[in-house]
Amino acid sequence: MDYAASLLSFLPGGRRSPGIAQLVAQVEKYLPAAQVERIQEAYELAAEAHKGQKRLTGEPYITHPVAVAGILADLHLDGQTICAALLHDVIEDTPTAKDEIRERFGAEVAEIVDGVSKLDKVQFKSRKEAQAESFRKMILAMVRDIRVIMVKLADRTHNMRTLGAMPPPKRRRIALETLDIYAPIANRLGIHSIKLELEDLGFRSLYPQRYKVIERELKRARGNQKEFLPKIVAAIEKALADADLPGKVDSREKHLYSIYQKMRRKGVSLSEVIDVYGVRVVVGSVDACYRTLGIVHSAYKPMPGRFKDYIAIPRINGYQSLHTTLFGPNGVPLEVQIRTEDMHRLAENGIAAHWQYKSGEDVGTSQHERAREWLKGLMQMQEGGNPEEFFESVKVDLFPDKVYVFTPKGDILRLPRGSTCVDFAYAVHSEVGRRCVAAKIDRRLVPLRTELRNGQTVEIITAKGATPNPAWANFVVTAKARASIRGYLKTMKRSEAVDLGRRLVNQALAEFKQTLKGTDAATLAAAVRDLGAKDADDLFEKVGLGERLAPLVARHLLPADRARAAGAGPAAPLAIAGTEGLVVSYARCCFPIPYDPIIAFLSAGRGVVIHRATCGNLAGWHKQPDKWLPVAWQKDTQRTFSSELKVEVQNRPGVLAGVASGIAATETNIGHLAVVEHDAGSAVITLELQVRDRTQLAKVIRALRAMPEVLSVERTTA
Ligand code: MN
Repeated sequence: MDYAASLLSFLPGGRRSPGIAQLVAQVEKYLPAAQVERIQEAYELAAEAHKGQKRLTGEPYITHPVAVAGILADLHLDGQTICAALLHDVIEDTPTAKDEIRERFGAEVAEIVDGVSKLDKVQFKSRKEAQAESFRKMILAMVRDIRVIMVKLADRTHNMRTLGAMPPPKRRRIALETLDIYAPIANRLGIHSIKLELEDLGFRSLYPQRYKVIERELKRARGNQKEFLPKIVAAIEKALADADLPGKVDSREKHLYSIYQKMRRKGVSLSEVIDVYGVRVVVGSVDACYRTLGIVHSAYKPMPGRFKDYIAIPRINGYQSLHTTLFGPNGVPLEVQIRTEDMHRLAENGIAAHWQYKSGEDVGTSQHERAREWLKGLMQMQEGGNPEEFFESVKVDLFPDKVYVFTPKGDILRLPRGSTCVDFAYAVHSEVGRRCVAAKIDRRLVPLRTELRNGQTVEIITAKGATPNPAWANFVVTAKARASIRGYLKTMKRSEAVDLGRRLVNQALAEFKQTLKGTDAATLAAAVRDLGAKDADDLFEKVGLGERLAPLVARHLLPADRARAAGAGPAAPLAIAGTEGLVVSYARCCFPIPYDPIIAFLSAGRGVVIHRATCGNLAGWHKQPDKWLPVAWQKDTQRTFSSELKVEVQNRPGVLAGVASGIAATETNIGHLAVVEHDAGSAVITLELQVRDRTQLAKVIRALRAMPEVLSVERTTA
């Protein structure tokens, strides 16, 4: 169905949608018999599935998919696309499952149908410009096969043709969505014919009065032009013939919505836009285009500043042509477009041209490769243009590295691919991020680390007094969330460091039978000043972070007579509970666990690092005796600690599974496991285990030693 006829079918008493016979006649013209047969099968499945259903127009439902297929057949799209068009509402409206389509028509057709059904579920809600842009990108990002978009555009086109049957509010919403979302997408993909039709139909539904006025004026203008336009066309044809340049000259239709947009954009009157002659010249080569330009410029005087060379610098969607405006008969402007046959085809069909059926074509070309081919073509054309802008508008759309998700209010947020619920929370507001405790995706509770997908609605549940979880830092991807969580951890580390520092100073004071409490304020203030700290907390923080030594600080807090006296006795070790947080860490060279004899090393900036007393690394560090301090495990530690075992086993199949299940039997978690091949006969497995204490570790070691395939077991010591 062509464009004019489609407008006709809109009118009361207009003709009915074409039936399957017409579609078959249409595809027979360019598709091989085998594909035509598949299309007929797809029709039969769809007709069966939609049996008894009616459209709001009163017609049988099947007329809709047939019309959608017809629009795509006008673009000469491949057989799979036509089949998918016939089946596009089958998953949505009928019980026919995706599996059945896959079985009968292949995975690609099934994926296209599924993709169209998913797009049907997202609705555009707000009219803000930025929202519209994000929504367009979201639509494109949701699509893996660009043919999904083509079916969707054709679907929308037919729905717009029959929009009159809808109740007015719904009509308005659909028309708005068409103008804001789908026509721009058709434009960006260069599918001109669909873009124009969507615009005119959308405009007509949204602003019926304005549409009528422009339509009436356009008719009047055409009447006026009737006399001169054929003469202009004939004159240009003759000039081309005289120059021995074969070419086709046509008068050009004006489209109502583009007239309206031009009026608004340029702030000009209707007659200024309408009272213009439009002519298009299609010639054989690029060279001929420029020669034609010379010919028309000598036939009519060109208007200064109106020449545009879209051949040298194509538009972003690949559109190429020469545009010029001349002073026509009676001074009426004459707009001329000059292009080659290829450019004309691209100007009409854009990306769809890449899915047009070509006989003898390699079926193996994947849709991704084709999209890439199209992009590559555009890229080459854009050379000298603005590549950044080009990437933003096209590449990002087709090979997206962003996800688009809704807030519960319907606003769209754009986040990097891989973003999680926590990233979303921080993107909404840092305060929401800081307080988030749970998340819902499409109204279902999900873990906070869940990765977001296009089109989802995300809701964040916050709680007063909730704080960020340090584990979030491991999975967030946005800079904002990361910076905010890091900032929080830093603050937390500071307050923990102050606490630890206070305990360390107290411990050092105990050696002199004194406490911090028993130290008078003036002495403390003097010590703070002498040691160059801002205040007492600052001083304790430095001690906690290992930047200042507790015994030295303690000496500053003693009365002069006692400071001179040497230590009154050995210091009681600092108790380690395992819950100290970020300022106490456990060395990964020797993996200390409760009941291991331990010693602590004060590491500047990191705080206290616990080592086993037998750790091999201690030898080298004994040069700094004042950096070591005695520590001991508290009686009840309430967490698990990492410990590492090296297990030598016989190298034979299944041995790893045996070791793992042997450990599982002792109710111990394996955090990490690596196999180092030794030789043909034996292998060494390194196991990182989570244990409460030495008793549990001993149990694991015993269990392992009891296994016949285990040759030896030992704990890692640096
Ligand atoms: Mn549909």
